Amino acid sequence: MRALAKGLAGFDTSLGLILYVAISIVFGEEFSPRYLGLALIASHLPDFDFIPFLLLRKRYGWFSHWPIGRAWYWSLHNPPVTLTVVGLATYVIAQVLETEHSLYVLCLVASGIALHFLLDSTEEQGFALLSPLTGQETRWRLGKKGFKRVSWQECARIYKERHAKRKGTGSLAPWELPFSRYELAILAASTAVLVLFAAH
Ligand SMILES: [Zn+2]
Repeated sequence: MRALAKGLAGFDTSLGLILYVAISIVFGEEFSPRYLGLALIASHLPDFDFIPFLLLRKRYGWFSHWPIGRAWYWSLHNPPVTLTVVGLATYVIAQVLETEHSLYVLCLVASGIALHFLLDSTEEQGFALLSPLTGQETRWRLGKKGFKRVSWQECARIYKERHAKRKGTGSLAPWELPFSRYELAILAASTAVLVLFAAH
């Protein structure tokens, strides 16, 4: 439940809203709840691999929904594969359903997914941006100075520590919010941008 709340109020939602407004302005599109929904689904889409993760984690001893070791194929956190497959599928479906808007729809979906991966790269343990073309050992962290390589040893240490913490007392007290004030402030700002766009 907390993971769900964090997902819904986190940066993926805020930046999904901003991206929706920016791309709609570029394409000269009016506000549409349908396309807004599509943009928000896209900015969260890779995290839907939480479902196979929850079902299979006990059997395989997984501790993250990001691909572990060679078992990359069950995860949606494989940017080159996910972007190509979902991008192509989106374009074909959009061509069939709405010929005039297919490029707009493709941009909404592809940039939402790409943005999700960039945000994942800001995590402390780094992210294998080119998985499965490169292994999980080749990871980058996106910081103020751009991308920095994260060694596999460092990543494994961070994963292990986090796993031990979760197994212990549970990570949050009942009165603690699963998201930071910073995240809430950005969510409020991006919602305001969306309201302005919808009302103009
Ligand atoms: Zn993710």
